[in-house]
Amino acid sequence: MSEAFDLIVLGAGPGGYVCAIRAAQLGMRVACVEGRDTLGGTCLNVGCIPSKALLQSSEEFYHAVHALEAHGIRIDRIAFDLARMQARKSAVVEANVKGVEYLFRKNKITWVKGWGRIVAPGRVEVSGTTYEARHLVIASGSESMPLDGVTVDEKRIVTSTGGLVFEEVPRHLVVIGGGYIGLELGSVWRRLGAEVTVVEFLDRLLPGMDSEVAGQFQRILGKQGLKFRLGTKVTEAETDGAQVRLRLQPSAGGEVSELVADAVLVAVGRRAVTERLGLTELGVRLDERGRIAAGADFSTSVPGIHAIGDAIAGPMLAHKAMDEGTAVAEIISGRAAHVNYDAVPGVVYTWPEVAAVGKTEDELKVAGASYKVGKFPFTATPRARAMGETEGFVKILADAATGAVLGAHILGPDAGTLIAELAMAIEFSASAEDIAMISHAHPTLSEAVKEAALAADGRAVHL
Ligand code: FAD
Ligand code: NAD
Repeated sequence: MSEAFDLIVLGAGPGGYVCAIRAAQLGMRVACVEGRDTLGGTCLNVGCIPSKALLQSSEEFYHAVHALEAHGIRIDRIAFDLARMQARKSAVVEANVKGVEYLFRKNKITWVKGWGRIVAPGRVEVSGTTYEARHLVIASGSESMPLDGVTVDEKRIVTSTGGLVFEEVPRHLVVIGGGYIGLELGSVWRRLGAEVTVVEFLDRLLPGMDSEVAGQFQRILGKQGLKFRLGTKVTEAETDGAQVRLRLQPSAGGEVSELVADAVLVAVGRRAVTERLGLTELGVRLDERGRIAAGADFSTSVPGIHAIGDAIAGPMLAHKAMDEGTAVAEIISGRAAHVNYDAVPGVVYTWPEVAAVGKTEDELKVAGASYKVGKFPFTATPRARAMGETEGFVKILADAATGAVLGAHILGPDAGTLIAELAMAIEFSASAEDIAMISHAHPTLSEAVKEAALAADGRAVHL
């Protein structure tokens, strides 16, 4: 049996489901094949959304314990119910997943359940049925990177998926990897009372983020009680079912030490999913890091097959996948579209948040660029003082000659929301002066952005 479509999308994560919806809006007959039981991919099911739900709940608890007294609010007994917290998280996931189901129905997208294999250009086989389409888009996403010597059982030694469903707070959680997942989930369990040790291979956290921001962020997390073993690698982890014994070594080699944990979270990066799709047989080329090689128009080495999201190069972020999903749908339907990767923000949803867009100062130094820096601390921002959230700063990097914003980095309250203005500045090739001329409401956190823009020209007022 065979059914014909204009477009078949493989994978219903943020890349795939957005691509399917946009293509349907553009008048195409669309099918979306998804192997897991629900729509939404990694992000909605076991990624962005459940982690943000737990970050929110744990933050509410931490705030109640540590911050309310300073506001003159006394609560005599504060406790949390982890089962209820986890149930709330599941409800948040379900609401989002159902939302995508509704959008599929609204846009008349056929949801094909099962794992899809491309048997020829334009032909996808799912559980014995072949579906045909003029265009195929692979949006197969990514999975946790395994680590030699550390076998994941998703109980004691977990990936982020297991780290989202603990039924008890581990007494001691060792997190391998001080990146996005390690610091977000490490924060969740620390706030709920776990002792958390982050073991990071490099001598800093969050590689890829501005090193000044990462340094100050580490100090803040340290004050929240997270412990760090930087420049260290885990060579082996052994579990007896109750505890895990880890062997650690300096990254450059040297004396081995041991650490005992109740649970271990492996968060050393993610890799593209390219299995089960029939790519080798078709001759779809992969790049040097095993991702599907795709051009700026998302075409692969095989005509009629496009690829987007975590499965191709670029930051593994949901909004990047969504932007690519929209762009590829437009391109397939004969329109012009592109993604400006210089303006894709990245946000770590800890407290405080870390947000970045464009170049880091480290990158500008290496490139020998001529730039100026405008920095403004939240301690000098009236709204941040009123909130009692004064840690961190806004840092804007601008071209020395033209003032064009090259990069922006925010460590502080609601940094993830504040960064949008700076992504827009980069998208519109605006200068720091342009930002400084915009009226920013008082008292808001966004005044720190304006002041940092003024500071780039030595004109900050409140400093
Ligand atoms: P995915 O979301 O991985 O979806 C791919 C889908 O394709 C999967 O559902 C898979 O089952 C399906 N699939 C694969 N092969 C086949 C096949 N052969 N047939 C049928 N279906 C197939 N990003 C952010 O921007 N913000 C965040 O806050 C954030 N938090 C995260 C937290 C965690 C714990 C994790 C793990 C990730 C987080 N991310 C976050 C990253 C984000 O989840 C990914 O960048 C995003 O999901 C990528 O979207 P995608 O559509 O490319 O792939
Ligand atoms: P990551 O790349 O952010 O961090 C991995 C960390 O592990 C790095 O600091 C790396 O140096 C370290 N590392 C690598 N090998 C190691 C080893 N052997 N021992 C110790 N440390 C080692 O990866 P992640 O945290 O696993 O997350 C994967 C991706 O998912 C992220 O890069 C991001 O794109 C996405 N994500 C995004 C968000 C968000 O947007 N808020 C949240 C979670 C995940």
